[in-house]
Amino acid sequence: MRIGNLAGRLVLVAEDRALDVAGASAGRFDPDPAAVYGVWDDFAAWAATVDVAGHPEAVAFAPADLGAPSPRPPQVIGVGLNYADHAAESGLPLPEVPVVFTKFPSSVAGPDVDVLLPGDTVDWEAELVVVIGRGGRDIPRAEVRSRIAGYTVGQDLSERTVQWQGTPAQFSMGKSYQNFAPTGPVLVTLDEFADPDRLAVSTTITAADGTRTRVQDGSTDQLIFDVTDLVARLSQTLELLPGDLVFTGTPPGVGMGMDPKRYLRDGETLTTEIEGIGTIVQRFHA
Ligand code: ZN
Repeated sequence: MRIGNLAGRLVLVAEDRALDVAGASAGRFDPDPAAVYGVWDDFAAWAATVDVAGHPEAVAFAPADLGAPSPRPPQVIGVGLNYADHAAESGLPLPEVPVVFTKFPSSVAGPDVDVLLPGDTVDWEAELVVVIGRGGRDIPRAEVRSRIAGYTVGQDLSERTVQWQGTPAQFSMGKSYQNFAPTGPVLVTLDEFADPDRLAVSTTITAADGTRTRVQDGSTDQLIFDVTDLVARLSQTLELLPGDLVFTGTPPGVGMGMDPKRYLRDGETLTTEIEGIGTIVQRFHA
């Protein structure tokens, strides 16, 4: 199943067609996409009975009208240094436990947005994002999959100067500017993937003159702490709530790791793709 947020309404998506959930369910489910995660198991059971592509109320839609699949997550959890090569390019040792920070929820945005650069050291981090369904505390590893709604694509945009300010550094502020947590284009349930633990992740920068440079090219099978491990461990401390987002970390190829360092500039566009989910795009302005 693929679901989206089409102009603020929950839809089921099949290729280029969208079906309004509130309409197709005769009001059983709320049109607000944020409301679905609290009734995820009921919703998933209903959605499994719906033929979206063949439904008479399914309509063509413009991808630019999609918003964040979970637009008001109670918590947005980030995991740092979760790929060995990215830890190396950051000049930091491999973590022995997940390195956890927050992106404040007001930074969440949809898949196609403009971003104002708050400084001249804004960096990209392509990430698989887990969206929590039923959630809970102390989730056993064997039950993690049933507590997840699905996966989406995210960018953990980071103002590096602010991220590393202070002693010890405080990651969360530099990662929480407006639109610094873009997500989408849709949420995909785990049954849709041949192998949900092996998905290609890439980032491409398009310069103002149209030149394209692929800067990140990784696979989620290289995660140090995989999705099952992360969700189980997080739930030992936090109650994971319906609609929460977990940014799982970024593969190598960020600007901070380049020599010389290279950051996002006015007029550039960032395109992030994850296999089996889709692409998100941000345009940057000074
Ligand atoms: Zn990150």
